[in-house]
Amino acid sequence: MDRRQAEADRWRTEGNRRGVSGTPELRGAYNFSAGPATLPRPVARRVREELAAHAGDGASIIEISHKHPRFRGVLDTAVALYREVTGLPEEHHVLFVHGGARMQCAAVPLNLIGRSPTRTAGYVVTGLFAQQAQREGARYGTAAIVAGSRDTGFDRIPEVTARHCPPDAAFLHLTSNNTVYGTRWNDFPRDCPAPLVADATSDILSRRLDHGRFGIVYAGFQKNLGPSSMALVTVRDDLLGHALPETPRLLDYSVYAASGSLDNTPNTFAVFVLSLTLEWIRDQGGLAAVERTNLAKARLLYEELDRTAFYRPTAHPDHRSVTNIVFRLADESLTGEFLARAQAEGFLGLAGHRLVGGVRASVYNGMPQEGVQALADFLREFARERG
Ligand SMILES: *Cc1c(COP(=O)(O)O)cnc(C)c1O
Repeated sequence: MDRRQAEADRWRTEGNRRGVSGTPELRGAYNFSAGPATLPRPVARRVREELAAHAGDGASIIEISHKHPRFRGVLDTAVALYREVTGLPEEHHVLFVHGGARMQCAAVPLNLIGRSPTRTAGYVVTGLFAQQAQREGARYGTAAIVAGSRDTGFDRIPEVTARHCPPDAAFLHLTSNNTVYGTRWNDFPRDCPAPLVADATSDILSRRLDHGRFGIVYAGFQKNLGPSSMALVTVRDDLLGHALPETPRLLDYSVYAASGSLDNTPNTFAVFVLSLTLEWIRDQGGLAAVERTNLAKARLLYEELDRTAFYRPTAHPDHRSVTNIVFRLADESLTGEFLARAQAEGFLGLAGHRLVGGVRASVYNGMPQEGVQALADFLREFARERG
């Protein structure tokens, strides 16, 4: 065996033992991590092919200028495909903004709050990220909590009608899917005088979303779009150009709109992966087809959880998330054993958020139906053995 081969083997075994990421690579494993999350397998394969194709010349898509025609082509494709698969209305821009979802909790008020004479915005607080958005908003004006579900442990989506909207609010902010508590909106507020703003990080492109109902939709990349640290932001044209004077240039949405998201260097890798993700969605038959598949996957798990009192799904049945399935074991003392067994059998990333504990299966677009079926079988088997 030559030295290079030996080196490669050593790297592989050590990589497997210690894990480049701290966990061993398991054959036939399924990753239910809440995010960053598993990519659709064909997308991951095309990323590998791209890097392999340029191993010799060092000029893969992440090694060339962001102004290079090849990268511009990728970015333009991503925007065009996003418009196509979501049916985005003409007057909405598609922007790739730095800093992930949480940065938009600052960018949204910086860009919009100046439109309110009293610098007021409304927030619906339905979970952890909704709360963080509201706290960030309070740095720039009055961030009024107009409705929420804290009193019931964030187990549901409250009723929100026009009367909840402060009359002079610059926007009404909501979280379309609550990643930590596993709830989602089915009917968004109607007749609110202020533009609606949605943090759609954990359900973007998992279902159809009528962007025309929203002034702004934003989503961190790392759950359904690609690698972390960028956000996809759609903004209605009339909402541009109102940023507070102190807004950092690179948080001003009008700068992104004017430069085609190329005022400075975006995460070119993330945009590349997004373009592949969108192609994959189109090839699945578009968002309607993806939505059907996701509903079927979620139903498999909820049916298994509802079958026995051994498990306790935590979300109100009318507001259950399709992408984050959150539950507890009726006998909480079995949770550790459940998670360890699951991990050993190749079901990764199932521990609930550290604030709530319990179990969470995140089932984004990238999770294949077989993975969900295997987890459902495991749930049944574990309940039979230990119930
Ligand atoms: C994951 C998540 C975030 C945090 O995203 P970052 O990109 O880490 O800022 C915000 N909101 C929701 C709904 C999320 O699921």
